[in-house]
Amino acid sequence: AQIANPGVNGLHPYQPGKPVEELERELGISNIVKLASNENPLGLSPKARDAVAAQLSELARYPDANGYYLKAALSEQLGVSPASLTLGNGSNEVLEILFRTFVRPGDEVIFDQHAFIVYALLTQSSGATARAIPSQDWGHDLDAMLAAINERTRVVCIANPNNPTGTFLSADALEAFLQQVPENVLVVLDEAYFEYVPQDQRADSMGWLKRFPNLTVSRTFSKAYGLAGLRVGYLASSEAIADLLNRVREPFNCNAPALAAATAALADQDFVRQSVELNQQEMARLEQYFDQRGIRYIPSHGNFITAELKPAATIYQQLLEQGVIVRPIAGYGMPDHLRISVGLAQENDRFMQALDTILEQQ
Ligand code: PMP
Repeated sequence: AQIANPGVNGLHPYQPGKPVEELERELGISNIVKLASNENPLGLSPKARDAVAAQLSELARYPDANGYYLKAALSEQLGVSPASLTLGNGSNEVLEILFRTFVRPGDEVIFDQHAFIVYALLTQSSGATARAIPSQDWGHDLDAMLAAINERTRVVCIANPNNPTGTFLSADALEAFLQQVPENVLVVLDEAYFEYVPQDQRADSMGWLKRFPNLTVSRTFSKAYGLAGLRVGYLASSEAIADLLNRVREPFNCNAPALAAATAALADQDFVRQSVELNQQEMARLEQYFDQRGIRYIPSHGNFITAELKPAATIYQQLLEQGVIVRPIAGYGMPDHLRISVGLAQENDRFMQALDTILEQQ
């Protein structure tokens, strides 16, 4: 332990849930519903599935180290050059590459107190210092984040929408923020849940890259595209930043089935629309359910909703005993809340019925 890098001993390992099959065995039930990881309940596009199948006979070969076809497809869809893209094994990995490239011991990294946990993990493992900024109404306080910037600040991370709160910053608010961040401070705009934001509310974050050379935008195929198990994400930035990231990146960080599936998934926007529509409908049902029972929740722009359910640890356990897995978020500084991913109608029904049973007994 003494010889580990600065920061490493203070890390806490990511706490994964048990495999669903194992839980089913332990609980003696066969139909567990998992609403814990903000996955796409519709699965993946059949076209992406076919693309993976077509790769099976090619697995003895290394993948394309530069993700040529996926970058070409992304470039066309996003209106940015292939040279401004960095691909990763999930968007988590592109963030890790960015930290490896730019963040060193003694630097400071700014993010919201209820921000996605990986920012804190990367900050700490880089030996840098986290500046967690108190939220305002569960959302990012951009003025306070700006005020926290000093000469040691290297990166500011903003998730929009944010996980686990589901809060959302308007394009105007973000643009005003970007105008005030010094150019030597990198901004990571994490848009993992971008596809769930209605078209008319989306920021032109890709267009902003030309105006703000310190801006980087990450997105993922794990959510609306339904490819969480394959691990593909990307970061768009200036070509100068992408050049550095691609030097640090391991050459074969994205595997061949993942690259093929992501390229096919991108071409199937009907599947994405269907996924987003289902999410809207089911989100409305969950909100109505909470409203009817007087349960407070944070209005969410993602594919999950975070509700105040006390005592959260007990309710989590009781839901689990009824075969419904949700996400406790005490580790995000929210010990009185549970995060519920929006599932299929019948899955959400199971959650609501199970919670009703628990509340009746309280
Ligand atoms: N950012 C946010 C805000 C997330 O919620 C997640 C997934 N939980 C990610 C990034 C990482 O997603 P992935 O690595 O699967 O692309």
